[in-house]
Amino acid sequence: MQEKLELLRDLQEMDTDLIRKRGEKEALEAEQSTITADLDKVQEMIDSLEAEIGGLEDQRKDLSQDLLVEEGNIKRAEERLPTIKTQKEYVALLKEVDSAKKMNKDIQESIGRLDEKIEALTGDRDEKAGELEELNGSVEGRQGEIKSSIEACDKVLTEGDDKRDALLEQLPKQLRKRYEMLLDRRAGIAIVEARQGICLGCNMNLPPQLYNRLFTLDEIQTCPHCNRMLYLDPATTA
Ligand SMILES: [Zn+2]
Repeated sequence: MQEKLELLRDLQEMDTDLIRKRGEKEALEAEQSTITADLDKVQEMIDSLEAEIGGLEDQRKDLSQDLLVEEGNIKRAEERLPTIKTQKEYVALLKEVDSAKKMNKDIQESIGRLDEKIEALTGDRDEKAGELEELNGSVEGRQGEIKSSIEACDKVLTEGDDKRDALLEQLPKQLRKRYEMLLDRRAGIAIVEARQGICLGCNMNLPPQLYNRLFTLDEIQTCPHCNRMLYLDPATTA
């Protein structure tokens, strides 16, 4: 029985380390996710500004095209001027040129407004791009650290899992199942020390008879309150 208890204690020690390591890895992964989310947020802002700028540039291209058409119209009308015979035709043609010129002015103003918007948005975009670059620079080192720390955790976890599985194999099947069930249901602690009549797993008083039976080492005792398996540590029992 003493041998099994020692095996269980070794196993518990390993599992406690492994659980801590898994917690460490989860915290690192959460930190990495936060960093990624921060970077993504700025990148999304840049993308949306770029889409907006792209839309305005398309509008500008269309207006420039309209401008060319109107300029062609004006040029053709003006070329026709010397061939005009009647006053009526002359007035009509001048009216046509005037209206085309007015249209051109409107288009030019629209282009000017678009240019102002594009310039402002480009400024915003550049500012965000600078922000992203700065952020990237500031987290780059930490991201590298996180990556290598996670790799180190994985190595410890893989090796540790193999070792604890090998140790677990040495226990009788029933005891193995009991240990794993307790580990699962009792926050990763299946076997605890009983000290001065108290279960250190739940801090409740143990019935004196049960506590006394722990000294005989003839079978594994469990705490009636938290069900964890109990052991005595000779160093603290005296
Ligand atoms: Zn207990």
